[in-house]
Amino acid sequence: MSKSVKATRSQFCESLLYLNSQPLSLADYPHMRYIYDVTYKNVVLKFSRQTAKSTTMANIMVADAVMRPKDPNKGGTGGFQQMYISPTVDQTKIFSHDRLSPVIEGSPWVKRNFTDSKLVQNVFMKQLKNGGKMYLRYALLNADRIRGFSVDKIYYDECQDLREDIMPVADETMSRSFYKERVFSGTPKLTKGTLASLWFRSTMNEFMPKCEHCGKWNILDDKNIGKSGLICKYCGKGLNPRNGQWVRTGKAANDKYKSIGFRVCALHFYGAPWVNWQNDIILKYETQPRNIFFNETLALEYDDGVSPLTEADIKRHCTGGPMVDRPNSHTKMSHIYIGVDYGPINSNDSYTVLLVLMPEGQRVRVLFAKRYVGKEADFAYLHNDIVDVFRTWNARLIGADHGMGEASNSELRSRLGIDKVVAFQHQSNQKEELKWNAKLNAYTTSRTQIMTKFFSDIKRGKFIFPQWEDWEPFARDLLAPVVDYDKDKTKMFYVNQQPDDIFHAMIYGTTAYELIKGMITW
Ligand SMILES: [Zn+2]
Repeated sequence: MSKSVKATRSQFCESLLYLNSQPLSLADYPHMRYIYDVTYKNVVLKFSRQTAKSTTMANIMVADAVMRPKDPNKGGTGGFQQMYISPTVDQTKIFSHDRLSPVIEGSPWVKRNFTDSKLVQNVFMKQLKNGGKMYLRYALLNADRIRGFSVDKIYYDECQDLREDIMPVADETMSRSFYKERVFSGTPKLTKGTLASLWFRSTMNEFMPKCEHCGKWNILDDKNIGKSGLICKYCGKGLNPRNGQWVRTGKAANDKYKSIGFRVCALHFYGAPWVNWQNDIILKYETQPRNIFFNETLALEYDDGVSPLTEADIKRHCTGGPMVDRPNSHTKMSHIYIGVDYGPINSNDSYTVLLVLMPEGQRVRVLFAKRYVGKEADFAYLHNDIVDVFRTWNARLIGADHGMGEASNSELRSRLGIDKVVAFQHQSNQKEELKWNAKLNAYTTSRTQIMTKFFSDIKRGKFIFPQWEDWEPFARDLLAPVVDYDKDKTKMFYVNQQPDDIFHAMIYGTTAYELIKGMITW
């Protein structure tokens, strides 16, 4: 082993590793070569089933164990330490036994030069003659089985089911490493959770095939599924998944990305011998629950039935351009309404928020949003500012919540006029969607009914949101409510673990306008 050759990982794997007794070839899957070759500190692999996720990781692991030195400053090879972590012992055993062992044992050159009978090989540890070690561990509830090791690279697999708080503990095992590299992989579930939050902070790279017929680039999803094969979602003609390139779709500023992320789905493997279009794509598309199909075949998050909205539902309607904090010639001609949801002072869970809304025919445009945090959350500041915003926009009316806002509402009424604030109070057990309560001097709503109506209004495109870059920090509030059921599953309601104030400000502002316009009767 005196000769040293510089090779990329994909070159190494394609020349020296075997899969099912055949030399590995990525020739048919050009998108995979790039994934083999990246050497970022943090890599996120969001893969569907049937995309060779585990095989890819096993190959990369063996390539690194053979090629990389313990200390990159000293050079040479050997001694590189890696750890694989999945949530359960079964998943780890399957990876070790069915993926990693076959690469080591089944690749003649590796077996001949890097293994011998004196080395300990078991399901939880593989070692090579050059000192390279691969530990295989699992961590469902805590990181107890992971402490005490010293490694250079960690593979977190099935991240959608891994607890995020295990990772900092496991990362400690790399404190003395020159590398400290992490690979996070998994199959998506919801738009919230460990894998989702890793993915949305990554570059979110998509391998986009270019249509040979209409010239358009496709991000592969359910619209690319044709009766007899992959089609272009724009012109409907056949699409070759190999004729494409990786494109970053993450929207953060260049230096804000925590990691490089890749999404790979079964459609990217259209034409591969292990993907049967009728059985693996069409039949599943027609018979599986949509969330399963989206997650496991398309590698897309799917929230229906759990979270009423997805990020995609909102992004689709972010067509309003930049957010504006004062009127322009277009908005001056229109009637402006304001929605306010008050939060308690000094709360990290809930804030006072304000929305400026402009009706446009049957639709409502969100022009401006504001969240009052820190010193601005102080009532004295808040009242002055809401009055300022109201006057700046020459608004007609404020819709605001009654419970937390009773004092604030009467303060605003005293400054703006008694008829300028309409108050609302959500009720959990009211039959009518909306009704007047003279005693409260406020409208009461059926919380579940009116929230359901607004979720469906958002999906239908009733609201025009500002461009995503401006709207994203507020859009999170719309994704916060999730569906829950009472014990006997007869009654549905919404709960939220994160702030959802913007959503309620939207309900109050819009409902105030619709009441004034006589668009709602109760
Ligand atoms: Zn096309």
